[in-house]
Parts: sequence; structure tokens; C-alpha cells
Amino acid sequence: MKKYADLHVHTNHSDSTLSPQEVVDIAYRKGFTAVAITDHDCIDGIVPAIEFAKKFGIEIVPGVELSAEEGNDEVHILGYFFDYRSEWFTGRLAEIRLKRVDRIYEMAEKLKAYGVVIDPKKVLELSGRGSVGRLHLAQVIFNEGYTSSLVEAFHKYIGNDGPCYVKKYKLTTKECIDMILKAGGVPVLAHPHVLGKDELVPDLIKKGLRGIEVYHTDHVNNITLHYEEMALENGLLATGGSDCHGKGKGKILLGKVKMPYEIVERLKVEADKIKRSMEGAVRRAE
Ligand code: AMP
Ligand code: ZN
Ligand code: FE
Ligand code: FE
Repeated sequence: MKKYADLHVHTNHSDSTLSPQEVVDIAYRKGFTAVAITDHDCIDGIVPAIEFAKKFGIEIVPGVELSAEEGNDEVHILGYFFDYRSEWFTGRLAEIRLKRVDRIYEMAEKLKAYGVVIDPKKVLELSGRGSVGRLHLAQVIFNEGYTSSLVEAFHKYIGNDGPCYVKKYKLTTKECIDMILKAGGVPVLAHPHVLGKDELVPDLIKKGLRGIEVYHTDHVNNITLHYEEMALENGLLATGGSDCHGKGKGKILLGKVKMPYEIVERLKVEADKIKRSMEGAVRRAE
């Protein structure tokens, strides 16, 4: 029987409504063999998912999604098979998450001027100990009756062009890629079509990018073909995933992108290569 993987799934450790256990449960019911947990700036969903997945015989791919800034664009970089027990890696992520908390306070302050009074603590309660974001803030704005939907909260206030939007603290693309490589992981450009800046790709490759997310729920057929070619021409791994956020973005997307399991094996081989070259670099420096 053919085996399938989804390499881009969020949990409630960032801005999905689903717990790691619920993700595993849905993945099992949809017939997946492997699922990558790729929360924004947070890897705390990985171990609970691994524990729970044992019962189902599902493999959890350790993942993360980092946000980088490149001019006015926000570039999302996925990382796979890094050492998720690395203390400096988890420490660095914790620092990045603290900046997200500051940002919620700043946006709440801006919202006040528009008559929208939000207690930032309610937003933080909603996100729990994970990574807080605008999806949580939109939920509280909606819950408090200021808008009739989450989308309206983005349109009126906190969308990228909204009056109460505050930019996220972001690393550079080099910092993101370096961070993943240093932890022995494979850096992959997330949803390139959403970014819409193909001209950035050669530079990202020079910085150490190893793959691009060819298959994604926001990529329609001819776009997929375009990125398949780009991957082939540049020797990049062609990855794919649903980018499921539970009900955070309407429908549950897990199941919409089914990657052949072989891509998981290719990522493992690449991660092993990266780990060996990183160890070599450390030895040379000693
Ligand atoms: P953050 O990482 O905190 O900037 O939050 C980004 C999240 O907000 C992503 O999950 C986006 O999909 C969501 N988002 C951004 N703009 C909109 C919008 N106009 N409508 C709905 N969701 C949005
Ligand atoms: Zn998200
Ligand atoms: Fe993303
Ligand atoms: Fe994502």
C-alpha cells in the first residue's frame, strides 16, 4: 500500500485549534503514515505528538516554521529533522516568542484608538504557552463582539495594511537558514507562491536552502508545475503539505495534500548530510 505524508501542519502550540493529539488522530483517519508538526517559532508540539502517535504507528517529523524579513516581504522558512532537544535552539525560539507577546500588547494599544478595547492577557490565555499571533488576537476581537467574523478583524484592524497592524520581529532569511542548519535540520522555503517573489530563490539557495514547498493548499495546478520545475532545475527537494491550522482558517486542511512517503526519506538523508557537515565544521573550529 502506498504511504503518504503531510509535511506542514500546525497545532495549538501556535495558531491551530487542534492539539498535537487531535492532529495525529485526524492524520490516522485520513490514512497518513507520517506528519510533520511545523508550528510557528515553537517546537513544543513535537514530543506530545510523537508520544501519542506511537499508538497509531504514525511517524512524526520534527518541524518548525520561522518567519524572516526580506525587504517588505515576509518569508516563511520550514525546518525539518533538526535536533529538537537542542537547548540553544529551544532557547532561541523562546526569545522569538517573547517578541510576539510584546507585539500583541502593541497591537492592543493601537486598537484602543479605534474603540476596540482588548485585554492582551485574554489573547495570551488563548494561545497558552505556545506561540501567539494575529489569529488569536482576531479571535478575541471577534469574541468580544467588535466584529462579526475573524476575517473582518483582519480587514478592519490587523490585516497587513490595517491601521492596528504591527510588524513581527523577524530574523533575516540568513539567520533562519543558519539556525535550522546549525541544529542539523533541512531548511525549506514555505509556500513560495504565497510569497510571490521567485527572484529571491537563488539567493536563498546560496544561503543554504535545500528545498521548496511545491505542493500546498494555496498552490493551484499550473503553479505546482512551475515550482516542480524550479525544484528540478535547482536540485532542491520538492516538499509539500496542507498548512492545516485546524478550524483557525475555516476548514480542516489536513488530508488535502498527500505527499508520497519517499520525501520523508529524502529529507532524512539530507538532514544526515547536514548534521555530518555541521559536526565537521565544529571539529575544524576546535
Ligand atoms: P502572525 O504570524 O501573527 O502575523 O499571524 C499571521 C496569521 O494571520 C496567518 O495564519 C494568516 O493566515 C492570518 N492572516 C493574515 N492576514 C489575514 C487576513 N486578511 N484574513 C485572514 N487571516 C489572515
Ligand atoms: Zn499559522
Ligand atoms: Fe506560512
Ligand atoms: Fe504554516
